[in-house]
Amino acid sequence: MGAGLSGLTCAIMLERHGINPTIFENRSQVGDRFINAEAFLSLLTRPVNDVFQYFSEEFQLYLKPAGSINQLHINSENEKAVIKEHVGFVNIRGRHKLALENQLAEQVKSEIIFNSKHTYEELLHEYTHVIMSTGDGSYAMKLDNYREDLSVTLKGATVEGEFDRFKVFVWLDNTLAPQGYAYLLPFSDTEANIVIAYPDLPEENEEMITEYWDRFYKRACRQLDQSLEITDQFQVKNYKIGVSKSARIGNTFFTGNCFGSAMPFLGFGQFEAILTGIFAAYDLCGFGKYEEYTNTFRKSYDHSLTLRRGMEKLNNSTFDFAVKHLNGYIGQKLFQPNHKNPLKTISYLVRPFISKQD
Ligand SMILES: Cc1cc2nc3c(=O)[nH]c(=O)nc-3n(C[C@H](O)[C@H](O)[C@H](O)COP(=O)(O)OP(=O)(O)OC[C@H]3O[C@@H](n4cnc5c(N)ncnc54)[C@H](O)[C@@H]3O)c2cc1C
Repeated sequence: MGAGLSGLTCAIMLERHGINPTIFENRSQVGDRFINAEAFLSLLTRPVNDVFQYFSEEFQLYLKPAGSINQLHINSENEKAVIKEHVGFVNIRGRHKLALENQLAEQVKSEIIFNSKHTYEELLHEYTHVIMSTGDGSYAMKLDNYREDLSVTLKGATVEGEFDRFKVFVWLDNTLAPQGYAYLLPFSDTEANIVIAYPDLPEENEEMITEYWDRFYKRACRQLDQSLEITDQFQVKNYKIGVSKSARIGNTFFTGNCFGSAMPFLGFGQFEAILTGIFAAYDLCGFGKYEEYTNTFRKSYDHSLTLRRGMEKLNNSTFDFAVKHLNGYIGQKLFQPNHKNPLKTISYLVRPFISKQD
């Protein structure tokens, strides 16, 4: 149920082992939504440093990024850090022929039923197993199998300008994206995505979102010293970040965001989404238990949630302090390819500073 990253990956793996699934997608084609650039950051996927090599060597899943990130510019209100390392990849999503979901769809042979109105209950009745891959926790929540931890607002645009496609910008500044972040990801020499992403605020209204957006847009133009031309825009409100209580209930497998692949700290979830699709298929093919395969993601989710709660306590002076210290040895060391995941350690370190009710 859902022809996105986790659903399509699951289908590819099932087909390879002689099982032909039927895929139900409620949109009219794969990736039928706005185009945006997303990223894989090796800091968040370690011990895997190169996700595309990993998918290819471990699972014979061949995917192409739009580019690699060789320079990361992190900005706070008054400070700036430049990391000159290979820190990850940019990829495209949505209505674009190079979008990851379209690359996956090209490898799928099974039938995809578009414009599907089938409910989960109908699919459960009709099929031996259901892979719940709808990209949000709503259904899992209806089944009392999902804990929502936060919801997020994302407002973004495609802009035209001149970009170094290996260079990515991030802003940690509460006046642009309160308790969140803003970023610029180029997906060609002339096109980039600029986005603000932050937890939904109880008092939020359209006026406030526009205010943050205008401020960020001006800041991005100023920093790149260009007047960036907006060619497309999107807004996602109430994007749920949470985790399933059980990876599987009966013969229903919860994959991707239905499992809890979007990590609360920065909202990254593509890596885990693809892997949950692979592991659900592995379980169906008799290669192991889905719950066991996904236990490590559950632990990562918990660490990530701790980091999120920590980030919510930071003000612009602490961002300045952190960014200042990232510029130089600490930053280079943190982002260098490594088999250790420093975020786990940081999550233990910040734990005592987060009160119980958080
Ligand atoms: C704006 C934005 C930026 C992001 N940036 C990043 C990033 O930079 N890096 C990163 O790692 N992650 C990022 N993420 C998160 C990442 O995109 C998701 O974690 C990932 O796509 C989840 O994969 P999935 O398989 O669960 O769902 P998706 O890939 O979203 O697929 C879900 C599919 O299910 C379909 N569907 C929904 N309901 C039904 C239904 N009832 N019946 C049938 N089909 C249905 C949908 O149409 C869709 O095709 C971002 C998310 C957003 C919204």
